Amino acid sequence: MTMFKPGDPGYDEHRLGWNRSFASHPALIAVAATTDDIPIAVRTAREHDLPLAVQATGHGLVSPTDGALLLKTTALTSVEIDPRRRVARVGPGAVWADVNRAAARYGLAGLAGRCRSVGVTGYTLGGGQSWLSRTYGFAADSVVSADVVTAEGVALTASAEQHPDLFWALRGGGGNFGVVTSLEFRLHPVARVFSGMSFYPIERAFDVLAVYREWALDEPEAMNTAILLIRPPGGRRVLAIRAFHHGDEGRRVLGPLLEAAGPPLADAFAMRSFPDASDATNGPDAPPMPNRQEVELFHELPDDVLSAVVEAGAPDSPLAFVEVRHWGGAMARPAPGAGPAGHRDVSFSVMAVAPGPADSTLDRLVGRLRPHATGGSFLTLLTDPARTRTAFTAPNHARLTTVKRTWDPTNFFRTGHNISPEASS
Ligand SMILES: Cc1cc2nc3c(=O)[nH]c(=O)nc-3n(C[C@H](O)[C@H](O)[C@H](O)COP(=O)(O)OP(=O)(O)OC[C@H]3O[C@@H](n4cnc5c(N)ncnc54)[C@H](O)[C@@H]3O)c2cc1C
Repeated sequence: MTMFKPGDPGYDEHRLGWNRSFASHPALIAVAATTDDIPIAVRTAREHDLPLAVQATGHGLVSPTDGALLLKTTALTSVEIDPRRRVARVGPGAVWADVNRAAARYGLAGLAGRCRSVGVTGYTLGGGQSWLSRTYGFAADSVVSADVVTAEGVALTASAEQHPDLFWALRGGGGNFGVVTSLEFRLHPVARVFSGMSFYPIERAFDVLAVYREWALDEPEAMNTAILLIRPPGGRRVLAIRAFHHGDEGRRVLGPLLEAAGPPLADAFAMRSFPDASDATNGPDAPPMPNRQEVELFHELPDDVLSAVVEAGAPDSPLAFVEVRHWGGAMARPAPGAGPAGHRDVSFSVMAVAPGPADSTLDRLVGRLRPHATGGSFLTLLTDPARTRTAFTAPNHARLTTVKRTWDPTNFFRTGHNISPEASS
């Protein structure tokens, strides 16, 4: 393990994360070389009376890590695939690109998200909404066990049989309960998928969204879709249909939506391997940048919501994109004992990304959406730590508070999306 304090050569290289909205100045930085370094970092933070912040990639940075011991797990990228049991075991620095490639050799896939450079552990602890979530559930629903170093520096395994309260909280409650040193999760038999994007003139946005809000309610669980108003790098803003279908009938299933959209500017749907499909549906990974993301959830999408989306995604908008996405399917059918991931009963989300924390277009959009929204959010898609609580149902939040009191009564893990051990009212 290498330790850095302010002023040391290397400190600046390690203190920032992918989200450059925050110029964090941690009190100490511990760069782990092996998982054995993790309990040492926890004990060091305790000795210095510092809170502990964990960072694999910094994609999930939602507040500065000032004054904390920042534990970097970036180098711990191990990925082991057990094709017989269909499970993956990953180190805390592994990113989805590592898993996608390794699992594809066996015709298997994990429930990866939009960008392959996102960390598997941070994503999964927050729930994790994948291009295959309507088909197989939240990424957290596939977790089998987690090796954890607790706030006391004790190493243990959490699973359905061992420390079940901790295991429950880890499957959606974020990084509040311990440092995960190894995560084991189920893979799914996904060799090839219909996937990609098609692009249309932005002027068709309202009409296509109006068809989407009806059509999506009947899409099969094998189909996962979103509509985006997006400006490709260097290009003019367009309307995009994104689809990911686990089956070979994707184009037929999408038929009514494609017909409503009319002739495309470009059509890049194709059957692909899972890693290629992921890349084709997401586009290129974004480099580190300032980023503020807002997400609102909806049971239905009235015209007012569609108009707000179209306005926020207008050609001269500063937003990177505005996305309307349909959920449900397997996400809404949790297995008994499933964790607190997400709001399982919502049909749609509207998500928008601004190129920095202060953005009046994003504020205006949120103001117009809120009166129609459920008030809930998805933890991984939320960059405002003042709204953390909205990521959970009230009973799940109350239970998370109880688990937090057991495993981290001093709120040692309090940077980022925090669940306080104080009584939830
Ligand atoms: C470009 C982009 C695309 C994204 N796409 C999706 C998507 O499709 N679906 C989706 O659901 N989310 C998506 N996200 C959100 C992403 O899932 C979260 O930002 C997630 O927190 C990232 O995890 P990370 O490890 O990469 O980030 P980090 O910033 O390194 O970690 C985020 C948080 O996770 C916790 N954490 C990380 N590692 C550990 C550990 N070993 N032990 C305990 N806690 C830990 C900590 O609380 C940490 O603050 C995206 C984010 C970006 C920026």
